[in-house]
Amino acid sequence: MDMLGKYKTCVAARSTSSEILKSSQDGGIVTQMFIYALEEGIIDGAIVAGPGDEPWKPKPMVATTPEEILAARGTRYNISPNMAVIKESVRKYGLDKVGIVGTPCQMQALRKAQLYPVGMRYVTDKIALAMGIFCMENFSYQSMKQIVEDHCNVDLHSLKKTDIGKGKYWAYTNRGAVSQIPLKVTHKYEQPGCHVCLDYVANMGDISTGSVGSPDGWSTVFVRSTNGDNIWKKAVEAGVFEVKAIDSVKPGLDLVTKLATEKITKNQKELEHRAKMGVNKGLRNPYI
Ligand SMILES: Cc1cc2nc3c(=O)[nH]c(=O)nc-3n(C[C@H](O)[C@H](O)[C@H](O)COP(=O)(O)OP(=O)(O)OC[C@H]3O[C@@H](n4cnc5c(N)ncnc54)[C@H](O)[C@@H]3O)c2cc1C
Ligand code: SF4
Repeated sequence: MDMLGKYKTCVAARSTSSEILKSSQDGGIVTQMFIYALEEGIIDGAIVAGPGDEPWKPKPMVATTPEEILAARGTRYNISPNMAVIKESVRKYGLDKVGIVGTPCQMQALRKAQLYPVGMRYVTDKIALAMGIFCMENFSYQSMKQIVEDHCNVDLHSLKKTDIGKGKYWAYTNRGAVSQIPLKVTHKYEQPGCHVCLDYVANMGDISTGSVGSPDGWSTVFVRSTNGDNIWKKAVEAGVFEVKAIDSVKPGLDLVTKLATEKITKNQKELEHRAKMGVNKGLRNPYI
């Protein structure tokens, strides 16, 4: 199986804007790309995980200004059903060129809707830029709350950033404290649907990005489709990204490949296990 999907180029990159980098999760690739695309007229709005009613609970949002895109920076490690507002982006907001960010499963939902637009007429042909983000697993809001509050001992109201890396779940507070717990503690909180997911690096994005493979503050970027390639080249020429060859940075693509292989192999086994779960019958396999 192809662990990293199809791509034209892979680089390490970060935004050249210190304002964007200040609160972005990694190299600010998603935020910078959407702001650039908005200013250039490549998109006229973007679906992002905006701030919700409770702390760190994302709310899918149609952002039509750079300020709204900036307000959605950073990773919220719980479910944000970004695809849910795709119709609204076209029908209510009247967008003709829609940008959307999402996890690998959300990129799959998008491409499926584009190929089989059931109930999506005149919507999915308006997608102008799909930004995929790497994803090992996700959590429900309740799970994230328990991980941060009970295990990391941090109130969600004082949380500045959460991150998963180097085998740990990290919680940073607004006042500068850092808590970390081993990832094995968080496993029981993962959403069970993630255990049959066979995509780590958002194979279906026009461009996909994540932290793994690049140094802190930088992102690993796969430029995948012709559309993604055209937009990426223009953005780099315009000077909004600083770019390095992926084989010039540590830990580089070997680690991305290793993690993708681990995720896919583990979840393939889970699919096989679920197929034989009952007596003479099993759970449905969505891939066949
Ligand atoms: C659940 C989850 C698991 C992840 N796992 C990994 C991993 O294993 N390895 C890895 O390298 N990277 C992982 N990432 C990606 C990483 O955390 C960053 O999102 C990515 O590197 C983009 O960083 P950035 O600085 O370019 O983005 P920013 O410029 O900070 O923008 C992030 C964008 O993501 C959107 N977003 C935030 N939370 C969510 C969400 N829950 N669902 C959908 N969209 C959201 C925001 O609206 C924003 O537009 C994961 C992200 C999520 C949401
Ligand atoms: S692990 Fe897969 S199913 Fe779960 S949120 Fe990430 S991309 Fe979606």
